Amino acid sequence: MHDNHNYANKKIGRQKHIALIAHDNRKQDLLEWVTRNKDLLSSHFLCGTGTTARLIAEHTGLPVTGYHSGPLGGDQQIGARIAEGKINFMIFFWDPLTAQPHDPDVKALLRIAALYDVPVALNNSSADFMLSSPLMAGEYERRVIDFEGRIKSRVESFAL
Ligand code: PGA
Repeated sequence: MHDNHNYANKKIGRQKHIALIAHDNRKQDLLEWVTRNKDLLSSHFLCGTGTTARLIAEHTGLPVTGYHSGPLGGDQQIGARIAEGKINFMIFFWDPLTAQPHDPDVKALLRIAALYDVPVALNNSSADFMLSSPLMAGEYERRVIDFEGRIKSRVESFAL
């Protein structure tokens, strides 16, 4: 079935706004991945959930803006920034073997990232492929639903 949404292009600039998140069992892996890719990552804007951001900043020296810790609302803060267009790239090493207290937030974050056509890497290999993409070097137009137009037509559909 084909949806009938209108789409608007939203730019990812040459410098990406990258969110870094790792569940506890995956933090070591993410730290190693960031360390391996430090040079490339240093030319972008980095942020992350509280513990992940601090860990990366302290071990690599890269500036990483920290939100709340994931279980305390950090995933939701990052989701909100994606909706606002302020985060446009996400590396999220989630743990597929451990139940998380904030599982609904994790699901919500992945949903928002899919909705806003944000590139997402969920493990080492996808992160490697994403970072080595030739698209990293330039600007990119994401295809995002035209929410303004959608509100306008929805409001019109409810008019008395
Ligand atoms: P943390 O949060 O970086 O504060 O550990 C990550 C998460 O569990 O989403």
